Amino acid sequence: MDIEVAKDKGKEAKSAAESGPSHFIRNIVTEDLKQGKNDHRIHTRFPPEPNGYLHIGHAKAICLNFGLAAEFNGLCNLRFDDTNPSKEDVEYVESMKTDVRWLGFDWGNREYYASDYFGRLYQFAIQLIKSGKAYVCDLSGEEIREYRGTLTEPGRNSPYRDRSVEENLDLFERMKEGEFSDGARTLRAKIDMASPNLNLRDPVMYRILHATHHRTGDAWSIYPTYDFAHGQSDSIEGITHSICTLEFEDHRPLYDWFLEQLNIHHPQQIEFARLNLTYTALSKRKLLQLVEQGHVSGWDDPRMPTLAGFRRRGYTPEAIRTFCERIGVAKRNSTVDIAMLEHSLREDLNKRAPRVMAVLRPLKIVIDNYPEGQVEELDAVNNPEDPSMGTRRVPFTRELYIEQDDFREEPPKGFFRLSPGREVRLRYAYIVKCIGVVKDSKSGEITEIHCTYDPETKSGLSQSARKVKATIHWLSVHHAVEAEVRLYDHLFAKEDPEDVPDGSDWIANINPKSLERLTSCRVEPVLANAKPGERYQFERLGYFCVDNVDSSPGHLVFNRTVTLRDTWARIESGGKRR
Ligand code: ATP
Ligand code: MG
Repeated sequence: MDIEVAKDKGKEAKSAAESGPSHFIRNIVTEDLKQGKNDHRIHTRFPPEPNGYLHIGHAKAICLNFGLAAEFNGLCNLRFDDTNPSKEDVEYVESMKTDVRWLGFDWGNREYYASDYFGRLYQFAIQLIKSGKAYVCDLSGEEIREYRGTLTEPGRNSPYRDRSVEENLDLFERMKEGEFSDGARTLRAKIDMASPNLNLRDPVMYRILHATHHRTGDAWSIYPTYDFAHGQSDSIEGITHSICTLEFEDHRPLYDWFLEQLNIHHPQQIEFARLNLTYTALSKRKLLQLVEQGHVSGWDDPRMPTLAGFRRRGYTPEAIRTFCERIGVAKRNSTVDIAMLEHSLREDLNKRAPRVMAVLRPLKIVIDNYPEGQVEELDAVNNPEDPSMGTRRVPFTRELYIEQDDFREEPPKGFFRLSPGREVRLRYAYIVKCIGVVKDSKSGEITEIHCTYDPETKSGLSQSARKVKATIHWLSVHHAVEAEVRLYDHLFAKEDPEDVPDGSDWIANINPKSLERLTSCRVEPVLANAKPGERYQFERLGYFCVDNVDSSPGHLVFNRTVTLRDTWARIESGGKRR
């Protein structure tokens, strides 16, 4: 994997991110506009196939297509490439619209469907048949493959290649009328069975498929292939720059061939490297498998790299857009370190997420010298990065919760938090000292810690500047609100989910610890009415957001969006990866 390359790109893109780093596609567009090509227009499109949910790879293509159009005063269409009825669904269409909008892009009234062009594509096919450039072939799929040849051997002409125009027109119409069974015949372009480019060896343009389409119903029993539908759809919409991923580079001669033969508006196809991310599978087919086999709770499971998953996890559209800008656009495939995505997210959340205290694994402490029944409202800063976000009050009482992790009965070397005889500062409050530990007589488990506090150490009082080695967070037992917190880790345990020993399945790389549910957490009382989707920083723990599916006022559920530890910043500064 080519992580180093992506890393360098991140560095160089960092300073340029605000102005937008230049890349070869932006340069092509700039040059075309300067030359007055396409009447000084730029018109792009984002063309997903509605056979799954959009993922972070699509975000790269969305940002590129919509971003360039916006930058150069052009337009970008949303086009559903719905030519394969057996795998497509309206649920996917709706989710894709939601996701593109969420990312912050607008296609105006230009919501198009390749299926809207079925009539015109059919006419284009007839035009090609009439000019002797297409023929109906009776070879089976298997036979077509055999006849195609290999990279080193030329293919052989189909025995049906020289059918007359009349016979081709007649058979093609009967294919359309549903007279033949699935797979019985195809319509093929007549190009060159000896071409070094396999895509030009008489590629299939139409196949017979008696399937109900989510938009056209049973109107059609033939469907165009991607290769035939795509370029012609681009042309119909007046697209100027048809931007797609590298695997279509070898299809470009075919893209161009159809448009030249038909003599219609000819957009320019430009290919760029798709996004690959460490610890992440990016393919709708694979993601569908995760959903169908129940490895995740659905397309919007917060561990999924879908935009719906990221949204539920607490990612902001701004962070994803910044990330897409930073990774740049190149002609060479590489893999980007997921830490870079998390870095963009932390940067954004750091600015906007209010800080609160939450205790994930509560341990009760009792402050013996603090008056019973007394409640002090202490001032806490909402965001040290942004004073305009103000302060809030946090109730302090005699009985508090702290994190189990913040106490050690026998502290190892270097542990500076609470332990018997030692002091820590409670955030926004007092310095306390541990004077006793209560254990369950049977299990030996620690059930309660006893402390004393120094009343002069509160902010503004005589000892407030007194230094101790650690500050920990806490909550008042009687005021804290119960919550469930879900901690996530990478869905795959391997950087490359595909990296499996021969004979085993990539599913084996799923990280068994990718989800940990903590059900007896506590959060500050201000969160009692937190709304789905709201994002917070739980001090010292990470960024969290209210789950938009399972959380309700009586049962708060938070997702950990990302921890505070920034591995990307460390990589950039030359430190070690974790
Ligand atoms: P998938 O394998 O996930 O289904 P796809 O390319 O088949 O990917 P489409 O729905 O056809 O999915 O993609 C719509 C657009 O998004 C295409 O232009 C495609 O090139 C682009 N795209 C898809 N995956 C990525 C990716 N990982 N990085 C960048 N662009 C992508
Ligand atoms: Mg696809």
